[in-house]
Order: sequence, then structure tokens, then C-alpha cells
Amino acid sequence: MVSWKEQQKRIEDAQQMLLNPDLSIIKNNFKSAQNQSNVKFDTVCLCPFCLMSYELSRFALRKGLRVCPNCGSQLKSSTLSEINNLDKFVDFVFGYRFSGFWNKICLDVLAKTTETRFNEWNKRLHSLGLSYVFWERYKALKGDNYENEEYI
Ligand SMILES: [Zn+2]
Repeated sequence: MVSWKEQQKRIEDAQQMLLNPDLSIIKNNFKSAQNQSNVKFDTVCLCPFCLMSYELSRFALRKGLRVCPNCGSQLKSSTLSEINNLDKFVDFVFGYRFSGFWNKICLDVLAKTTETRFNEWNKRLHSLGLSYVFWERYKALKGDNYENEEYI
């Protein structure tokens, strides 16, 4: 028997989005906690390109890839699940940096210059509270070469 107070608490909890220190963003959903098989589709995934987050089910499937509902970038489901971890997220960006990552960021922004979109991406990263940890790890991966390049 669940008390009324406990029920209210669960309803409240179900409406919260949680951003964990490791970047995993989860919908605090009592239902999904009960039924583990639903967790995957209730999981909120962060699009690394535009930094918007949506439930995995909102990323439409197209030819085996997931399409970001905001910027239209296509990603593997495995990538979307993986980058819910800050280290994996930085590794993804770092590994992708010479294959066009920075050209694909914030395509939802009207001003299309690389600089404007990069600034917007950084702003969004900052508002997620991840700017510091992200760039610290990124710099660590780049090592001594960091000073010589602008942002890639
Ligand atoms: Zn996106």
C-alpha cells in the first residue's frame, strides 16, 4: 500500500529531469524505474551537435540512424547512448574533430558562420553546466598542442 504522500512524491519526481555529474540526463520516471525494459526509450539523449536533449524515441529512425529532431544530424543509437557520459562525449567530439564535427554543430542556428555556431554551441554547453569539465578533458586529450589551435 502506497501512501498518498508517496504517490504525490512519485508524480513530482516523474516530472523532473536530472542531469547527473557524469552528463547522463535522465527523466526521473518512476514507471521506468519499475520496468527496466522501458528505460532505454525513456532515456533522454543529448545531441552532441546542437546540445539539445530529447527522449531517445523522439530521434526518428532513418536507415538505421537516429535523426536529431532539432538539427537533423544523424547519429548511431549506440553513440547517443554512449555520450550520456561526459568522458565518452568528449572522446566522441575529439575523435570526430577532423571529420567535420565543428562544421556540423548548431545547424539550427540561422547565422551559418562557423564562428557564430561555435559560440552558440559553447553557450549551450555552458548553460548545461558542462563547459569547464568538457574543455578541461578536451585540453587533456590534446596535450601540448592545445595552445596552437583555436578550438579543434
Ligand atoms: Zn541536434
